[in-house]
Amino acid sequence: MNSSQAPHARTVRRENAAVIGSGFGGLAAAIRLQARGHQTTLFERCQQAGGRAGVIRDQGFTFDTGPTVITAPFMIDDLYTCAGEQRPESLRIVPVDPFYRVHLHDGSVFNYRGDEASLLAEIEKFSPADVEGYKRMHPRMEEFCQRAFVELGTYPFTRATDMLRVAPELAMLRADRSVASFVGSYIRDPRLRRVFTFNSLLIGGHPFRVSSIYAMIHALERRWGMHYVMGGTNELVRHLVDLFVRLGGTLRLGCGVKKIIAPNRAVRGLDLEDGSHWEGSLVVSNADTANTYRLLMADAPRRVWTDRRLERMAYTPGLFLICFGTDRKYPELAHHTILLAERYRELLDDIFDRGVLPDPLSLYLHAPSRNDPSLAPEGGEAFYVLAPVPNLSRGLVDWDSCKERLADSVLAQLEGVAPGLRSHIVNRHIWTPLEYERVLGSYHGSGFQFEPTLLQSAWFRPHNISEEAEGLYLVGAGTHPGAGVPGVLCSAELLEKVLAQRDRTS
Ligand SMILES: Cc1cc2nc3c(=O)[nH]c(=O)nc-3n(C[C@H](O)[C@H](O)[C@H](O)COP(=O)(O)OP(=O)(O)OC[C@H]3O[C@@H](n4cnc5c(N)ncnc54)[C@H](O)[C@@H]3O)c2cc1C
Repeated sequence: MNSSQAPHARTVRRENAAVIGSGFGGLAAAIRLQARGHQTTLFERCQQAGGRAGVIRDQGFTFDTGPTVITAPFMIDDLYTCAGEQRPESLRIVPVDPFYRVHLHDGSVFNYRGDEASLLAEIEKFSPADVEGYKRMHPRMEEFCQRAFVELGTYPFTRATDMLRVAPELAMLRADRSVASFVGSYIRDPRLRRVFTFNSLLIGGHPFRVSSIYAMIHALERRWGMHYVMGGTNELVRHLVDLFVRLGGTLRLGCGVKKIIAPNRAVRGLDLEDGSHWEGSLVVSNADTANTYRLLMADAPRRVWTDRRLERMAYTPGLFLICFGTDRKYPELAHHTILLAERYRELLDDIFDRGVLPDPLSLYLHAPSRNDPSLAPEGGEAFYVLAPVPNLSRGLVDWDSCKERLADSVLAQLEGVAPGLRSHIVNRHIWTPLEYERVLGSYHGSGFQFEPTLLQSAWFRPHNISEEAEGLYLVGAGTHPGAGVPGVLCSAELLEKVLAQRDRTS
């Protein structure tokens, strides 16, 4: 973080490098490799770059299909700095207020804001007794943010001793507790407990078992603000692609990788879906981590990430996404609305553990036209609504047959905040976990890859330096530090760090 890398720093060893996948982790890795002097080719199986940060354009509407919130915009600036440039004026990243408007099951509404005075006033409205609790809790969250995000997020965790070194500190921070247990020790009101725990779901963490370290998300949001990219998040993708190409990198869209060739446990090249080959000894996979090993290294003997081990890992839920446009505006809606169903823990257990669809779902509604009219034709709005749902591992939901019905019921649920909405919808596009599997190659169609439990984090997560083949590196949500745009950008920074270490010692 806060790149200390000199602009256009040159690597000791210049190589032919390949990056598999153009999610934010892959794009950032490709930019950093190219800026270090490696001749880099970025292979993407889809026809568009961005991975989860894709875009759908239909009838004058622009819909992002993935991340909508940028929480640490300085990390984008760092990417430009490492390429010897400054973020261009055309890439406008603007703050959003309120961060979220949270609708609770009893009809109460919490405006979740960044500035302390408004936040405390809102807490007081719900439960005056919890104001003091929040004041004690926030500095602890800040501590998590400083240690886990700022300091350990860019610490490689490639050796067991790395983990042993931080273990006493993790014990002191009580990382073994869940976010829900941490928040519950400061906040009494059950509704406020939901308000301060739901955001671990944004990286696929179950609030009742994700490590309390992830309570840092609230501090991270308050420290750097919540932001929106004008034109939609895919504009950020477009700018990063331009930067990579400007640096001399090659982007090959619609060009899936079939196999990582690694005889004698050393990378020698790639077999591509179109039957051609790429030769080189430096490969960075941003493809789904489990599938990098299961499919792209299917016939390579693996010491650590065997199919059996990957099978036993816990995966994050799937996502049910509807992008839709309307022929009227809803100025009463906030940019980000959360609608929490009455069942909280039980609903999450249905999704994470039982693999069944809860009814009703808890929803996140994105209404970017609020701040950005360019996304919809005159007089209309572009929306997306997102819900965590079971991933495909248990196979209990027949997505092809239930998705239209489920979309109808989700849109009906939205009428609680946008009366008459359904009669103004002019188009809709639905994504289920099947699309995450088929389009993006996500194992079990999970939204955020491995569940971020303590035993699947840091050293326990697949490492950024692969244990399976020399010359293979991993970036993206399935490796350290984990999912979310800041997390995957950190993984690319880590890549640069471990390559610099390699160069120093070779
Ligand atoms: C709906 C949704 C909303 C989200 N909202 C937010 C948010 O608001 N803020 C936030 O910070 N995070 C958010 N996240 C999380 C965040 O978007 C992701 O964690 C992050 O973007 C994942 O990036 P990644 O680098 O892991 O790559 P991915 O985006 O997963 O991309 C991987 C790429 O690899 C490609 N690929 C796979 N296999 C191959 C192959 N064999 N050959 C070539 N290419 C291949 C895929 O096609 C894909 O393009 C959200 C995620 C989703 C799904």
